[in-house]
Amino acid sequence: MSYLFPTYARWNVTVKEAKGSWITDVNDTNYLDFVSGIAVCNLGHANEDVLNAVKEQLDKYWHVSNMFQQPIQEEVAQLLVENSDGEAVFFCNSGAEANEAAIKLARKHTGKTKIVTFQKSFHGRTFATMSATGQEKIHQGFGPLLETFMYLPYNEVDGLDELDDDVAAIMLEVVQGEGGVIPAEAAFIKKVAETCERIGALLIIDEVQTGIGRTGKPFAYQHYGISPDIITSAKGLGNGLPIGAMIGKAPLIETFQAGTHGSTFGGNPIAMASAKAVLSKIFAEQFLSEVVEKSEYLVSKLTEVIGNHSLVTAIRGKGLLIGIECKEETSTIINQLRDNKLLTISAGPNVIRLIPPLTVSNEEIDEAVSIIANTFASINSTIAQ
Ligand SMILES: *Cc1c(COP(=O)(O)O)cnc(C)c1O
Repeated sequence: MSYLFPTYARWNVTVKEAKGSWITDVNDTNYLDFVSGIAVCNLGHANEDVLNAVKEQLDKYWHVSNMFQQPIQEEVAQLLVENSDGEAVFFCNSGAEANEAAIKLARKHTGKTKIVTFQKSFHGRTFATMSATGQEKIHQGFGPLLETFMYLPYNEVDGLDELDDDVAAIMLEVVQGEGGVIPAEAAFIKKVAETCERIGALLIIDEVQTGIGRTGKPFAYQHYGISPDIITSAKGLGNGLPIGAMIGKAPLIETFQAGTHGSTFGGNPIAMASAKAVLSKIFAEQFLSEVVEKSEYLVSKLTEVIGNHSLVTAIRGKGLLIGIECKEETSTIINQLRDNKLLTISAGPNVIRLIPPLTVSNEEIDEAVSIIANTFASINSTIAQ
């Protein structure tokens, strides 16, 4: 019997401890973790620098409220601004809250209400971000949704031409994460940015999953040569502590005056200490170029061992956010991989998503690839029987 609402389909794994790319369960079984708490523990579990930064802050003070000056917020905000196109940061506690702030800011700043998002997108579970999410199954039973969202097909330029100047913002992920690890095509992103210019809409990039070095750049939009008005971040920003951030350009600053928006816990100093340590490490050029190298290594190895497998239709992604698209539902394969001690998760019904810590070693990549090869080989022989 459980005292929890059963909102999650949980695995039969009870964690005892976690370190680096490894999770040990209460039976002392070691799992190679290619989930990273869903793109959260980008520096691996129990990273020493993050741990020490958090411990130091724990001894100073935990929470005082945003009535006080908090220099550590300024330091984290400066790191985010210096590594993005934004000029000011609002801190909150999750991805949904960051997107919620972006939606509110876009509406207040433009005086318009309509927000365009895309099919298969994922933006969160609060009412506005659920309404922004272009997936029927997330909406089920909660309607009527907020009416001011419309969903266009992703990676298709045609619908964009029909948009008019009543649009407050266009909001999108440059690699759709939950929707199936679908990277945006360059021509599509260019057209989205041009459309925002044409109709006077803000460009909001949801970097909750793709940001903080995951794709080999501080933020994934930086692969595309665009300059968004608003960038949202969360997941990897605190390496496991709850934190979200909305980063906006200078003209937006006057719209969020004192009293317009807020959060009791937003900018919590423990989470800030963690984020400061995370960003100081990940936003270093050397670290990011290693992410790109590891990504190329992992993708080439995967292509070698399962590229021609009868079930595999594509291996795609950006940086260390990689999807293996299969012909059928992947839940059984994901369970088999876990039985073989490799943790992965799905992205949509038929994509296996690999999100290792960015600190993963080549040896660990070899081990994961070998488990994937063996697991797919055993499926082959089952099919052959
Ligand atoms: C996970 C995710 C969110 C929601 O973040 P929460 O912290 O769960 O609220 C929003 N957008 C994207 C792209 C995500 O991957």
